[in-house]
Amino acid sequence: PAHGFRYNRVLLKVSGEVLMGDQAYGIDMKTVGLVAEAVAKVAREGVEICLVIGGGNIFRGLSKAAGDMDRASADYMGMLATIMNALAMQSALEKIGVATRVQSAIPMAAIAEPYIRRRAMRHLEKGRVVIFAAGVGAPFFTTDSGAALRAAEMGCDALLKGTSVDGVYTADPKKDASATRYKTLTYQEVLSKDLRVMDASAISMMRDTGIPIVVFSIREEGSLLRVLKGEGVYTVIT
Ligand code: UDP
Repeated sequence: PAHGFRYNRVLLKVSGEVLMGDQAYGIDMKTVGLVAEAVAKVAREGVEICLVIGGGNIFRGLSKAAGDMDRASADYMGMLATIMNALAMQSALEKIGVATRVQSAIPMAAIAEPYIRRRAMRHLEKGRVVIFAAGVGAPFFTTDSGAALRAAEMGCDALLKGTSVDGVYTADPKKDASATRYKTLTYQEVLSKDLRVMDASAISMMRDTGIPIVVFSIREEGSLLRVLKGEGVYTVIT
C-alpha cells in the first residue's frame, strides 16, 4: 500500500443521509464538498478509491413517499436517486481536480458510463475515482448490497462504511447513553445480533469474500485518512 496506509484499494459507501448534511431532504453541496475533500486527500496519496453513494436523501423504495406504488417501480426511483447523488459527488470531486468517472448499473449513456468491470478496474489503476451508481441495478436490493458487490468485483482490500456514527454500538447511542462501541466484530456476530450495520446480504457477501468492513463517521474531519492508516475511531468487522 501507499506509505502509511493499510490498504491498496478501498470502496467507500456513503449513505444518502450523509449527503443531506443538516437538511431534512436532498443534497447539501457543502457536505458533498467535504466528503469530496476527504476522498481527494486519500486519492492524492495513492490509495485507489471507488465510491458507492446511496439515495435515501431523495427517495427510498420502502418510504412513505412510495405509498401504494409497486415495490419494483419505487425501487427503480430509488436507483435514479443514487444517480443524482453520484453526479453531485462527481461535480464536487472534479471541482477540486480529481479525475472521476461515474458508472451506472442501469445504462444511461448520455450521463454516465455503463458499468463495465474491467473498465472500472482500469480507471482505478490510473488513479481515477470511480463512482458506482444505481446499486446493483435491480429492485429489492439496496446500495449496501451494491457496495459489497462492487467491493468484491474490484478486489478491494476493505469496504468502508461512512456514516454519521463513529462505529457499531451495542445500542443506538443517540437514544441509549449506556451504549458502547465495539472495536471489532465478526460477520457472524453482526448477523446473529442483528446489528443493523448494513443489510444482511451485504454482510454475508463480505463474509464469503473475506473483505473487512470498517464502520466510521465520515462527518469527523480527517476521519477517512485516519481510518485508512489504522488510526482514529471505528469498528472493524472481519
Ligand atoms: N435500490 C434498489 N436496488 C439497488 C440499490 C438501490 O432497488 O441495487 C433502491 C431502493 O429502493 C433503495 C433506494 O434505491 O431504498 C436508495 O438506496 P439506499 O436505500 O440503499 O440508500 P441509502 O440508505 O444508502 O441512502
